Amino acid sequence: TKVSAPFRLAIVGSGPAGFYTAHRLLKEWPNTTIDMFDSLPVPHGLVRFGVAPDHPEVKNVMSTFDRVAEDDRFRFLGNVTIGKNISIKELQNNFDAILLSYGASEDRKMGILGEDTYGVESARSFVGWYNGHPNYRNLQLPLDDTDTAVVVGQGNVALDIARILLSPIDQLRKTDITEYALETLSKSRIKHVHVVGRRGPVQVSFTSKELREQMALPGVQFNADMDYIKKEIAESQAIISKNRPLKRLMSLLEKGSPTKQADKSWTAQFLRSPVEVLKRADENRVKGIKYEINRLEGPLDQRKAVGTGEHESQECGVILTSIGYKSVPIEGIPFDTRQGRVPNKFGKIVQDDKELDGMYTSGWLKRGPTGVIVSTMTDAYETADTIVDDLKNGKPMLKPTHDDITELLRERHVQSVSYKDWKKIEAAEFDMGKKLGKPREKFSNVQDMLAVL
Ligand code: FAD
Repeated sequence: TKVSAPFRLAIVGSGPAGFYTAHRLLKEWPNTTIDMFDSLPVPHGLVRFGVAPDHPEVKNVMSTFDRVAEDDRFRFLGNVTIGKNISIKELQNNFDAILLSYGASEDRKMGILGEDTYGVESARSFVGWYNGHPNYRNLQLPLDDTDTAVVVGQGNVALDIARILLSPIDQLRKTDITEYALETLSKSRIKHVHVVGRRGPVQVSFTSKELREQMALPGVQFNADMDYIKKEIAESQAIISKNRPLKRLMSLLEKGSPTKQADKSWTAQFLRSPVEVLKRADENRVKGIKYEINRLEGPLDQRKAVGTGEHESQECGVILTSIGYKSVPIEGIPFDTRQGRVPNKFGKIVQDDKELDGMYTSGWLKRGPTGVIVSTMTDAYETADTIVDDLKNGKPMLKPTHDDITELLRERHVQSVSYKDWKKIEAAEFDMGKKLGKPREKFSNVQDMLAVL
């Protein structure tokens, strides 16, 4: 019998979106080979560089990704940036199809006066810093020079940040948080963290598990205007009673936390939109933040924050903005700047409503930068199913003229990192971790990672 040539797919990005699409496709269309690229020598995207160090159970998905990578039909090429080392056009010359799953590598900005003052950082930088992302390891924040931090945003990432800032340092020592972050956090004087949102308590986007954990932090008192919270919850019963997760979340918020022996606190603050970062008189340093006070308008399930024209200022020395990530376009691929994603139908990339042969997307780049790993998985499976349908229906794919991208990499002196190489890097991280009594100590710069090989 004649063996037909395998379907050859390039995947750009090794986060959950890339891995789960690969997982499903290898199962549903066995005659497939996959080359997966990542700009970093180390895989797993935000599972490694986003998920909080004190949530190790969330990172168990890495073992699923390991199993995918062990498959003979799969190859990892880390340390290769698509759009820089290799262009989309070149990928199109080398593969039958391309899956773009490179996530969201920038931040949304507040767009206010003083945003570039020393002491203001994005969630992405701060989280990347404590998690050892090579781009953020040199972050500087005046944590030893103030007792108050403001976190702008009310999602799970905002709570991750508040929790890391307020957790007892000995609790963090047992996690895979980087040593340099531990060192800086151990000198931190932050005692009060304000988690600020522009709308009300019913509109927060964190979830019950994270809120419960926040309320239970030892030595940390919860503060909020409880009368306002109760009033909003009472007025929104029509939507809360129909939504079980929201109902659970609201009852946690309403309950607050018992009064503790606490010298630290976190505050949930509502109806505040930052309008200006206030600076010290003689220095480019944060002194506080100025808000416009909002009121809520519109139907219960679509509450909007509307400015009242009244303002309020608050003193703080650090401001961390957790208002969302942002995907960036890549040359040669359509991009919807308004929605911040690649236009697609069930994962197939479309341009002016026309499907592009052999071009697919999944994950945050496909949906916009929201959703947890499980929703990213569901979404990746949808894209894999679209690819399989196209293959079954004999839809046209790309028309490659070459079949080994490694030639091009060699020509350009790009040292790609295989999954076996990554496992060596990881083994070295486990070794360093063992000596420090933690699960792993991450390498936080690319030279150190490559030096292991
Ligand atoms: P990513 O995970 O971002 O992966 C994208 C990959 O593409 C990266 O490895 C990147 O290096 C690579 N890349 C980018 N550009 C290029 C390029 N040009 N060439 C090659 N490679 C490139 N979900 C949970 O379920 N639980 C949690 O506790 C949790 N915590 C989170 C904490 C934070 C701070 C954040 C931001 C998210 C968290 N999430 C959590 C959500 C989860 O991380 C995402 O749903 C998921 O990672 C999205 O997957 P993705 O593959 O689309 O993107």
